Amino acid sequence: MGQEPDFDTFLLHGRTSKGFAQREILPPISQVTAYQYPSMEELAKVFAHKQMGYAYTRIGNPSVAVFEQRINELEGGAGALACSSGMAAVSAALLAVCQSGDEIIAGRGLYGGTIDLFHDLEKYGIRTVFTELVPEKVAPLINERTRVVFGEFISNPSLAVLDVEGVASVAHQAGIPLFVDATTVTPFLARPLSLGADVVIHSTSKYINGGGNSIGGVIVDGGHFSWDFDRHASLGEFRRFGRGAFLVRLRADLWKNLGCCIAPMNAFLSCVGLDTLGLRMERICANASALAQALSGEDGIRVNYLTLEGHPYRESAMKYFRGQGGGILTFRAGSRERAFRIIDSLKYALIASNIGDLRTLVIHPASTLYLRTSTEEMNQAGVYDDTVRVSVGIEDSGDLIRDFLDAVRKA
Ligand code: PLP
Repeated sequence: MGQEPDFDTFLLHGRTSKGFAQREILPPISQVTAYQYPSMEELAKVFAHKQMGYAYTRIGNPSVAVFEQRINELEGGAGALACSSGMAAVSAALLAVCQSGDEIIAGRGLYGGTIDLFHDLEKYGIRTVFTELVPEKVAPLINERTRVVFGEFISNPSLAVLDVEGVASVAHQAGIPLFVDATTVTPFLARPLSLGADVVIHSTSKYINGGGNSIGGVIVDGGHFSWDFDRHASLGEFRRFGRGAFLVRLRADLWKNLGCCIAPMNAFLSCVGLDTLGLRMERICANASALAQALSGEDGIRVNYLTLEGHPYRESAMKYFRGQGGGILTFRAGSRERAFRIIDSLKYALIASNIGDLRTLVIHPASTLYLRTSTEEMNQAGVYDDTVRVSVGIEDSGDLIRDFLDAVRKA
């Protein structure tokens, strides 16, 4: 057998990157709402899953299917579902395994939108218990109501690294799956399913798309979790699918009913972005590390970046990400006013609410992303009144560093 290709080669030449109907080098865009059939009988067979085919884009679409298959192949999953946004993916994945009366154990310091979702879910009788996601803290919180443990692999923007192996192990011992939001990690840095996670979620609006041109999300099921259908009663109707029940429940039921499909054009654009994920991530991680080092020496600036000497999760970055620290860094500027002055005087970094773009983006999270979050939750997410979040892009590192040093020294 020949040698397995490396990441970038695999991205361009993997099984799911070819084989299109007219030999296109990119997946064709099936930008339609519905599909027509020569007879009613055939359409009825498609609806009854007795014949392969597409009926209606909210239920399935070939451009979307290519995107799903490509991410699934990269993550090593059993199947994937693309969603209209990262939040749609998080919501659908959690709702598939939880119903009223159930509990979620979630990491502290998650993305603000996800924290907002957990508060929303309370109104539907689904409670979330927040903790530091380490085995010794998760284990005692698991009870008969717990249905899932949810965490971000590198939390945005606190930059805590989830101990996927350790937490998966204690969750599995109690019959609970681990869902990992790996948006900030991407399959380039690590593949959570291979480390014990059961379901991986991405906001593809970020690094996977990379070009800042479409919102999207994806849920990948590892297909190895052995569901107990008495405990996970929301999957009970699909028990005949065994380990595939989660994916079938979503595809045939909840995802379809919520109507959270991704648009075919967005799936196409995200596939195009995916082709350069490896190249971009290499450059982004190198730039982020160089910028973090440069800023660390500055007066009154406290930098948070995973691979900096003394960072509490530096060892985890060494273990899980081959020593790379991802594309996000935050720094504290001493005061909110100084943080604003620094942000406003940057020449290349755009003031924008996103991460994972080709371009460097900056934001003051306390006055934007955490506007509706309590101060305590915000601080647990590593966000203070003087925090600036930087999503590092692919600009030339010398220009970026000069831009930030000028801004910091002026402010
Ligand atoms: N998960 C993480 C870690 C995020 O950073 C974000 C957005 O910033 C989301 C989920 C939500 O993604 P979307 O904006 O695509 O809904």
